Amino acid sequence: MREDIIEKAYAKINISLDVTARRDDGYHDMAMVMQTVSLCDDVRLGFTDGSRIFARTNLPFIPSDERNLAVRAAKKFFEAAGEPERGLCIRIDKRIPGGAGMAGGSTDAAAVLRGLNRAFGNQFGVERLEELGAEVGSDVAFCVRGGTMLARGRGELLTPLPPLPDCVFVICKPQFSISTPELFRKLDQVSLRRHPDTVGIVSALERANLGDICRRMYNVFEDVNDRRMRTVTAIKNVLIDHGALGAVMTGTGSAVFGLYDDADAARKTFDALRREWRSTAMAKIMPRIEV
Ligand code: ATP
Repeated sequence: MREDIIEKAYAKINISLDVTARRDDGYHDMAMVMQTVSLCDDVRLGFTDGSRIFARTNLPFIPSDERNLAVRAAKKFFEAAGEPERGLCIRIDKRIPGGAGMAGGSTDAAAVLRGLNRAFGNQFGVERLEELGAEVGSDVAFCVRGGTMLARGRGELLTPLPPLPDCVFVICKPQFSISTPELFRKLDQVSLRRHPDTVGIVSALERANLGDICRRMYNVFEDVNDRRMRTVTAIKNVLIDHGALGAVMTGTGSAVFGLYDDADAARKTFDALRREWRSTAMAKIMPRIEV
C-alpha cells in the first residue's frame, strides 16, 4: 500500500434547498435536491511511516490539521478499520471555491473515505462509508457517491434520484463568503415566504423534463434579510438574461449557478460574468460514483 491513491473530489450544487423544521437539538431538518458537477479538487493520499495525519494544499489558508475535514475523515476511517495509529499525507489541489456552498471541504473528506476504502480492499460497504461521512459533516455522506440525490434530515438521509437531464452549469462566486451558522441564525428570524417544490422537482426528474425542474428550483436562504443577497440577485439576473433556464444560489452561498441546455449561451454567460467575477466556472453534470 505504498503507492499514492488518487481521487477526484467533485463539487455539489443545490438544485433546491428547503428548511422544513427547526429541531430541538439545534439542527434544522432540510429537504435538498443535490447534484455533483465536474468542477473538482484533486486528492492524493500517501501512507507515511509515522502516525500523523495531515493535509497539504495549494492554498495557504486551508488548515492542515484536524480542522481540515479531509484529515478528520481519514482519522474516522482508520479508527473504524481498527488501525488508529496509521499515518497519512493528504495532498489537495483545490479548485472548488471556499465558502461557496459547494461542499468544498466535505467532498475532499468523502474522497478520502473512498480512496482509503479502496486501499483497504473495500473493507466497508457504501452505507458504512456514508455513516462515517455523516459523522464528519452534514454534506460528506452525499459526497461519497454524489450524482443526483434527495437529501433529508441534516443532509445525511439520502435517496438516489434519476439523473438530471443533460445540461451545462455556469457557476459564479462573488468575492464574499457567507458563514453557514450566521445564515441559519438569520433564517430563524424570518418567516419564509416561499418554498421550493421539492416533490415537483423529483417528479420532473422522473420525467426527465429539464424545463419543469428549472421552473421549480429555489433556495430558502435567498429569502434571508442580508444585503449580500442583492449581489446574489444581480448575478441571478445576469444568468437569466443570458438564457439560463433557471438560476439559484447553492447551499448557504455565496455561489450562484444557472442551468443551460445551450452550450453556446452558457459560454457567452461565462465570458460576461468572468469579466466582473474571477471565480466563475463552467461545469457539467457528474453521475453517481459506484462505491
Ligand atoms: P458547504 O457547502 O459544505 O457549506 P462551503 O462551500 O460553505 O461548504 P468549504 O469550502 O467547504 O465551505 O469550507 C469553508 C471552511 O472549511 C473554511 O473555513 C476552511 O478553512 C474549512 N475547511 C476544512 N477542510 C477544508 C478543505 N478540505 N477544503 C476547504 N476548506 C476546508
